[in-house]
Amino acid sequence: MLTSIVGINWGDEGKGRMVDLLSEKQDVVVRYQGGNNAGHTVINDKGKFVLNLLPSAILREDKVNVMGNGMVVDIEHLCKEIAKLREGGIVITPQNLKISDKAVVCCPYNVAQDCLEEDRLGDKKFGSTRRGISPIYADKYMKKAIRMGDILHPEYLRSRLETIVEWKNLTIEGSYHAQGYTVEGLLEWFDKYGTPLKDYICDTGYYLDKALKAGKNVMLEAQLGALRDIDFGIYPYTTSSSTITAYGPVGAGIPNHKVENAIGVMKAYSTCVGEGPFTAEMFGEEAEQLRKAGGEYGAATGRPRRVGAFDVVASRYGIRMQGADEIALTKLDVLSYLDAIPVCTAYEVGDKITTEFPFGEDLNIAKPEFTVLKGWKCDISKCRKPEDLPKEAVDYIRFIEKATECKIKYVSVGAEREDYIVMY
Ligand code: GDP
Ligand code: MG
Repeated sequence: MLTSIVGINWGDEGKGRMVDLLSEKQDVVVRYQGGNNAGHTVINDKGKFVLNLLPSAILREDKVNVMGNGMVVDIEHLCKEIAKLREGGIVITPQNLKISDKAVVCCPYNVAQDCLEEDRLGDKKFGSTRRGISPIYADKYMKKAIRMGDILHPEYLRSRLETIVEWKNLTIEGSYHAQGYTVEGLLEWFDKYGTPLKDYICDTGYYLDKALKAGKNVMLEAQLGALRDIDFGIYPYTTSSSTITAYGPVGAGIPNHKVENAIGVMKAYSTCVGEGPFTAEMFGEEAEQLRKAGGEYGAATGRPRRVGAFDVVASRYGIRMQGADEIALTKLDVLSYLDAIPVCTAYEVGDKITTEFPFGEDLNIAKPEFTVLKGWKCDISKCRKPEDLPKEAVDYIRFIEKATECKIKYVSVGAEREDYIVMY
């Protein structure tokens, strides 16, 4: 069976912890897009881990983890991430980690390009994570990228680099007047960080197809959320890849399989990292309190996240784009300090009220309409059954469920593995 765990909002919904929890019943977990701009925090009996590139089931001993062809892989970052996990006692071998030969390598010049461009933009910056993600996806579609499988063929790797580096320096030296790159320098980098990964590189699509046909359970783990999807998100403040369920089988290398259950991870309030329209945003003291209560600082970058009320308009759209069959509502415990909880239920766009997610300039000028629900004002982090929850918390869940038109199956009330409630 093929399942997906995907983000309904702007990312950081708690996908990592839901994958860590729900991967118990899985055999294989696959990342299918994005790179080390992801930050998935998992807290379990082994400690606290931040995963950027590795699938979140790497922390479970008996699971196979796959990095799919849709990913962009900074091999230096990957080697360091693996080393750090090993220090924490996690075992990583070619048996439990497989990297697609078709995944693209994010190179040092991509990282440089990302930083040079953000710096050039100054106060018009996009809020990039500066990890080279958009330049390397652009290179991929310009067919000027190195793929993981090229590491296994040194002569071919050299010839590809000769073509690419000459072209890349036209931009880095010619346009930005920065230090260019050499083929020899990059070959050294590939030798240092590519060689240790050689045994992990394989045709992961073939592996996954066989696993599914043998009746294994495979879970696709997304990075970011629907509102960051390159096609359907808040372009241009999106990521550079497809974050949606429908892309999952492509990015995993198994387009011949269909996702049978899509689990959407949705946060009980809103957060957004970086720039872009964020209609339900809170400001000042109100925002500061929520940010503190939720610990809303980027896992990958440490940046304070923008925070806001739960947004029905954006979330219902996110659920539709993800084709979510059921929802995991996360971080409900964070709202326990509030007497009254605002929920954004509609947008005012010019002289119209709408519940459909608008685009472009309409989204930029949209103003939130709020409904205010009663808070529960008590600690819910020890609740483990729906009956344990105070009435106001159940009312909040049911209100959101009805408004977004999707069944809320799980509710998480704390960051640790066991801090959750099954609602149905
Ligand atoms: P991801 O990118 O979607 O995997 O999410 P992040 O890991 O970036 O952000 C989620 C943060 O919330 C992490 O620090 C988690 O440890 C934490 N978290 C997840 N679920 C809960 C929850 O139910 N309650 C609380 N208080 N924290 C949670
Ligand atoms: Mg995150």
